[in-house]
Amino acid sequence: MARKAPRDDVNEDGIEIGSPKEWAAGIPGVTRSLLTANAQMGVGRTLLTLAGVNQKEGFDCPGCAWPEGEHRSPFEFCENGAKAVAEEATVRRVTRDFFARHTVDDLAGHTEYWLGQQGRLTEPMHKPAGSDHYVPVSWDDAFSLIARELRALDSPDEALFYTSGRTSNEAAFAYQLLVRRFGTNNLPDCSNMCHESSGSALTETLGIGKGTVSLEDLHRADLIFVVGQNPGTNHPRMLSALERAKREGARIVAVNPLPEAGLLRFKNPQRASGLVGKGTTLSDRFLQIRLNGDLALFKAMSLLLLEAEEAAPGTVIDRDFVEAHTHGFDEWAEDLRSLDWAEVEEATGLDRPAVEEAVREVLGAKSVIVCWAMGLTQHRNSVATIREVVNFLLLRGNVGRAGAGVCPVRGHSNVQGDRTMGIYEKPPARFLDALRDEFGFEPPREHGFDTVEAIRALRSERAKVFIAMGGNFVSATPDTAATEEAMRRARLTVQVSTKLNRSHAVCGREALILPTLGRTERDGDRFVTVEDSMGMVHASRGRLRPASDDLLSEVEIVCRLAVELFGDDPHVPWQEFAADYDAIRDRVSRVVPGFDDFNTKIRAPGGFALPNAPRDERRFPTATGKANFTVNELEVLRVPPGRLLLQTVRSHDQYNTTIYGMDDRYRGVRNGRRVVFVHADDLAERELADGDMVDLVSEWPDGERRAEAFRAVAYPTARGCCAAYFPETNVLVPLDSVAETSNTPTSKSVVVRLVRREPADG
Ligand code: SF4
Repeated sequence: MARKAPRDDVNEDGIEIGSPKEWAAGIPGVTRSLLTANAQMGVGRTLLTLAGVNQKEGFDCPGCAWPEGEHRSPFEFCENGAKAVAEEATVRRVTRDFFARHTVDDLAGHTEYWLGQQGRLTEPMHKPAGSDHYVPVSWDDAFSLIARELRALDSPDEALFYTSGRTSNEAAFAYQLLVRRFGTNNLPDCSNMCHESSGSALTETLGIGKGTVSLEDLHRADLIFVVGQNPGTNHPRMLSALERAKREGARIVAVNPLPEAGLLRFKNPQRASGLVGKGTTLSDRFLQIRLNGDLALFKAMSLLLLEAEEAAPGTVIDRDFVEAHTHGFDEWAEDLRSLDWAEVEEATGLDRPAVEEAVREVLGAKSVIVCWAMGLTQHRNSVATIREVVNFLLLRGNVGRAGAGVCPVRGHSNVQGDRTMGIYEKPPARFLDALRDEFGFEPPREHGFDTVEAIRALRSERAKVFIAMGGNFVSATPDTAATEEAMRRARLTVQVSTKLNRSHAVCGREALILPTLGRTERDGDRFVTVEDSMGMVHASRGRLRPASDDLLSEVEIVCRLAVELFGDDPHVPWQEFAADYDAIRDRVSRVVPGFDDFNTKIRAPGGFALPNAPRDERRFPTATGKANFTVNELEVLRVPPGRLLLQTVRSHDQYNTTIYGMDDRYRGVRNGRRVVFVHADDLAERELADGDMVDLVSEWPDGERRAEAFRAVAYPTARGCCAAYFPETNVLVPLDSVAETSNTPTSKSVVVRLVRREPADG
């Protein structure tokens, strides 16, 4: 099960470890943005490009899904947004000569960083079966090859159609239409690996699989919990929103095993005081929780609120709200009273006074928001944990009023919009009915494969063709060795991409790379749309000349494949869709709720907000017709002696699987990525010291998994926990270790042991 690290393109012998930072952004953030952009694009292109990021007439940042406010400054981007834009708008190019020089095997030996640094893909490439080289192929030949392979399948369910969160609404709608027209719901997406747990829990409890707050709510909240989230690196402009909330009087409680710089203090680079002053203290209270302890924490806080209500009836619980709008309160409250504080303390690593102090914050706040990210969603009990977050908020009526609600913060710029457009392996019947009524064909009803099931299907050869609309599937998914082996069994793999990544090198017997336009680039006079994390839909118009004349937009790729596959289709005007995205938006307006009059509303500067029944009307379209309290069992994740709980994290020079550089400025790491952050006392207990080299080993019923050669870094993480970067540590998470209900890999609670490497091991 061991997997060797890719060949060293970057020598990590020069790694330097400093102290973790206690504040985020400031002058270093600005400097790093400009240096990165300049290195990839040069001065003129940097200025032209960055001036368009997140502007009403510009393009949507290809980074995260954080929303923009109504009033925009000329610099509506953060350090990591600048890096994402620079990666895409780089002047470096990958040409046919590059592929002539490098075999596929050779590419597979390089790191993600090296692959990403080669530049933009420029023409379609084909790896024939039995060959170890990609060679140029025409677009026509590429489409006929895909159509031929799809038609040759015994069933449409033998094909998989993956989507990454960069895909625009228009491309996503056309893509899911092609897939259902072909006859399957095999539409795994990156959401399966990130916020699926949020979607599952919120759909059941609130009747909507998304958050219920707007940016304005965040500014108006009295108390904001930021749980299992590192906004300084992953959603940097959220720090501006938190800073604004603080100015308006909000208090912030951060809940995290790591004291991340962005949770502590923010120096806003867009304000003079942020550049020269001390910045703003963000967290008023930091709960350094043990990994996987959040369910216990929210149960404990709710119990203390119940007890406070019993001590002073009518002062704590919002009885009117609970009675009018919720279901299941009595059963939930009765179960909660049996909570065992010893288990709470064991699960959270927090003592009771720390939880009581957090509850005093809650009692002092009229409106409370809970924000979270992967720290909550990638555990076996993630869906139960998020249900407990909902219970906690419902108790005091903190859903459906100003300054209050649930705020799952999405990672990739249009991951939420793609799901809204129907990229979902378990589509609701009403969506399929609407498709049928609009297009006049019967879509398949049987649920398709999610990401984990898709890998299993490839492994067992129940799936034979794999098509990815963006992303880097083999590096984003768990159980690297198993996933790579599964991918290599495919008859054909197709990657629609802007840049080179490992999924081009670890491919099927036959493989295609189809290069596509990026967000920054002109797509004729057309524009696309995206939905941000808070349900705002807006237009995105690139302004740069495309990286090559031989690129197609994602919409064109979908539509030209559909023409090849279906010929003269009586149901869908694919050619019209390819030429005019308004034609797609017209159809969206009749299929997807909330998009009526899409083409008019999207032309308003800043776009429009999608309806959100819990937020707008306190209406909860659940099975009971109310917001549901749910009972969730507390099971303490006990770690065998000598083991630690590992969470996989990003560095500050990283966005998902894209590695921008080898530093993690906020955590004090330079020139390296193979580090594991461990509490100094946990190192000492294992007779290890800062600087020792270790392997990380996870133990499972089907055998051990090993990630080799990590430098131990003494770090102020919670006791019993450690952290290391993905994708290097994806190898440690087996395919079958997933969250209940959502099937999301459990990448935030992996039991590992550290095995010292002797000097001879390297
Ligand atoms: S916060 Fe996210 S969307 Fe905004 S500029 Fe930064 S990376 Fe881009």
